Amino acid sequence: MNYKNVTIAGSGVLGYQIAFQTAFHGFKVTVYDINDAVLDKAKAKFETMSEAFKRDLNATQEQLDKTRQNLSYTSNLADAVKDADLLIEAVPENPKIKIEFYHKLAKVAPEKTVFATNSSTLLPSQFAEATGRPAKFLALHFANNIWLHNTAEVMGHATTDPQNFKDVVAFAKAIGMLALPLHKEQPGYILNSLLVPLLSAATNLLVNDVADVQTIDKTWIKATGAPVGPFGILDIVGITTAYNINQIAAEKTNNPITIKTVKYLKENFIDKNKLGISTGEGFYKYPNPAFKNPDFLK
Ligand code: NAD
Repeated sequence: MNYKNVTIAGSGVLGYQIAFQTAFHGFKVTVYDINDAVLDKAKAKFETMSEAFKRDLNATQEQLDKTRQNLSYTSNLADAVKDADLLIEAVPENPKIKIEFYHKLAKVAPEKTVFATNSSTLLPSQFAEATGRPAKFLALHFANNIWLHNTAEVMGHATTDPQNFKDVVAFAKAIGMLALPLHKEQPGYILNSLLVPLLSAATNLLVNDVADVQTIDKTWIKATGAPVGPFGILDIVGITTAYNINQIAAEKTNNPITIKTVKYLKENFIDKNKLGISTGEGFYKYPNPAFKNPDFLK
């Protein structure tokens, strides 16, 4: 892997975190977004990210100064990619927006540029044709709060060139990620293929009145040795995300339990602004949730 210049398209929640993380690890990073007003908002996030890197990773002022020097910003797509070895796409999770973006990008990107999508729920094969370079296209999926939850799932589609795949795995390691290669396309990658069924099983048990929140979490914690149960995890992920996932599933399947779950989450959590750790309360109250109490498992 001899990438030096990396372009990040989309400077929202994940895009800016990826840009900062990549610049922090010594790559030249160009941040691209639709207009200068949005880019000004992205620039303003430099300070909060710096604080987080100091607090959580003991980053030094010298490292942060270098990070700042490694970052540049433009709303001109051709300029943004003119030297890019790798472009990471973090535009909204909407197939229409992504396809339009790849059509535009294909026209202006140099031949050498490898494209990677950070999409959480869409598959790279959906966009391979629009990129105009399927062999140089794959998914590179990060988790929110990338500097702490430093996983990078790398997933090609059927015609991704194996060398490009290896290069992106090496790149992920070079920016401090635990690289997690997948052998084939899988909706939800590895993490959500494991997590979504666990969390829905937990909410199904609850809305079916089989057991209460704490009993379900106690079962999981005691029996598997995990530090937190499914409802504790839901508070971390955020109840809004769980609500959205269930709502999409309810519309698709009309499953009565899923419909009941949507109603339950809306009435008890969404409408009361109990969205999990981010609002101080979800299934548990923070900063001292009951499952952290030494007596929880007695
Ligand atoms: P976001 O809404 O915070 O940011 C999207 C950014 O894209 C905005 O700055 C917006 O101005 C910009 N944008 C819109 N249209 C554009 C275009 N045509 N060209 C360039 N930029 C454009 O979204 P996000 O949460 O950062 O998510 C981005 C991607 O990352 C999605 O595919 C999402 O699935 C994925 N992702 C998100 C998370 C998360 O926790 N938020 C985690 C992993 C992956």
